[in-house]
Amino acid sequence: MEHVDRQASRGARREGEPLPTREQPKGPRVVYTSETPWVNESEHVLVMACSDPRFREAGEEFMRVHFRLRRFDQLILPGGPASILISAPSFFAIRPQVKMLHETHDFKRILAIAHHDCAYYRLKYPKLDDAARRERQIADLHEFSKEVVKLAPGTRVELYYAEPANGYVQYLAVE
Ligand SMILES: [Zn+2]
Repeated sequence: MEHVDRQASRGARREGEPLPTREQPKGPRVVYTSETPWVNESEHVLVMACSDPRFREAGEEFMRVHFRLRRFDQLILPGGPASILISAPSFFAIRPQVKMLHETHDFKRILAIAHHDCAYYRLKYPKLDDAARRERQIADLHEFSKEVVKLAPGTRVELYYAEPANGYVQYLAVE
């Protein structure tokens, strides 16, 4: 029994441990190898969300648990879905990127997530209070759904708004 256990532990690689150095080619040095296997597949889903780090962990959970998505495209930009609207400074930069991604990754579904206390909206609309800013963001989500299908025709667009609630993050479907 002890012998078998020793054999098993000898074969196991510790999490993140690089492969033995003799297998590394010349050039940049491997510092980490994933426990996650490489899967050469796409779910044909684009997620557009803001970069706000406070929503990062909950956002990943929302994708994994609620949608059961693992291999989706992600465009993470200040203001998230607002980045393709004419009112955004990134309008001319981001729209062709969305189009190119759709042409190469064949999206079936686009998920757009706006969030509470977004710095992009706070800077853009300094006179709006929380409630008025939320209203502006929801109007922009509707605008996003009209605009994004020009870049990615034939996709289903879903809109969400994230906000803290009782120490957690809740996601509201915007319809
Ligand atoms: Zn934000």
